[in-house]
Amino acid sequence: MENIYDLTLNDLKLWMKDNKESEFRAKQVMDWLYKGINSFNEMKNIPKSLAEKLEDNFKFYLPKVVHEYTSKADGTKKILLALEDNNLIECVIMKYKHGNSICVSTQVGCRMGCKFCASTLDGRVRNLSNGEILSQLIVAENLTKERISNIVLMGSGEPLDNYDNVVKFLEIVNATYGFNIGQRHITLSTCGIVPKIKDLADRKMQITLALSLHATTDERRKSIMPIANKYSLKEILEACRYYIDKTGRRVTFEYALVKGVNDSLEDARDLARLLKGMLCHVNLIPVNEIKENHFKKTEAEEVKAFSKVLNDYGIEATVRREMGSDINAACGQLRRSYIETQK
Ligand code: SAH
Repeated sequence: MENIYDLTLNDLKLWMKDNKESEFRAKQVMDWLYKGINSFNEMKNIPKSLAEKLEDNFKFYLPKVVHEYTSKADGTKKILLALEDNNLIECVIMKYKHGNSICVSTQVGCRMGCKFCASTLDGRVRNLSNGEILSQLIVAENLTKERISNIVLMGSGEPLDNYDNVVKFLEIVNATYGFNIGQRHITLSTCGIVPKIKDLADRKMQITLALSLHATTDERRKSIMPIANKYSLKEILEACRYYIDKTGRRVTFEYALVKGVNDSLEDARDLARLLKGMLCHVNLIPVNEIKENHFKKTEAEEVKAFSKVLNDYGIEATVRREMGSDINAACGQLRRSYIETQK
């Protein structure tokens, strides 16, 4: 049986048509769907016969909360969810003054193979459906009883490696019938799948593109990110310029600082030269240390110095605040440690 959360308004319109129902019923159903309802019978303006037909064809499936961890330091919540096929995914809710943000996963595992990342250690198990991506928001709002107002696609998985489902997800969270979250409140992070960045640009959405750069030369990038063997920095920066051109949006470059690998002042100057003249912003992330590799984070003082070099070259940079560090909040760590304790 299909999960109703996997459908966009258009999908449901097509279903109505195929089932000899009026198309406008699709909008009525969608307007109820994200209002805390979990059966079609509760949808008051839907004829009983249609509600029954829908009940026979669709389920309201939400993943189960296996564990919920709350950081004592900053209230960050990390949620471990079990899917119907028992695969585990995680999402994180961060509380900010300007509202609650959720970091969602887009795949079970990941096949990009970045050397510093815990999500990719066992490869990709499968893509999440758009309903499964979306259900992380539903579960989060049910748990916190608070509205989520910002989304970052920075959990496990490579969003552009699950492009069609991610685009459907973006449509539903943005729609007034869905979560009504403005596109400017959504950030999609990618390791740099060039053709898909261009595709996304052509859709002319207002979401923020975050590009995981992490190195200033192809050689160095290849040594930590296998995707660099496929797309060069030149191609990536060109795709980012295309995105800026099409959308008018400022691109974020993520740069994980790893001690002795990419964090010298020379690297900072190279980065500044690379990005000069672009409508962009750099987000420096002292690497989250995981036990499966040897990467160490750059010291706070050096992070500051790195950031200052960028600023001196006229490039805006911020240092990512570490949230929920007492609860393993970095990508993929929770799922891994849970699976290990179950062995
Ligand atoms: N696959 C996407 C999104 C998921 S990861 C991407 O690559 O962008 C979100 C961000 O966290 C990426 O910038 C990623 O490179 C970074 N990241 C992964 N593991 C990390 C770690 N151990 N420390 C710091 N940043 C990490």
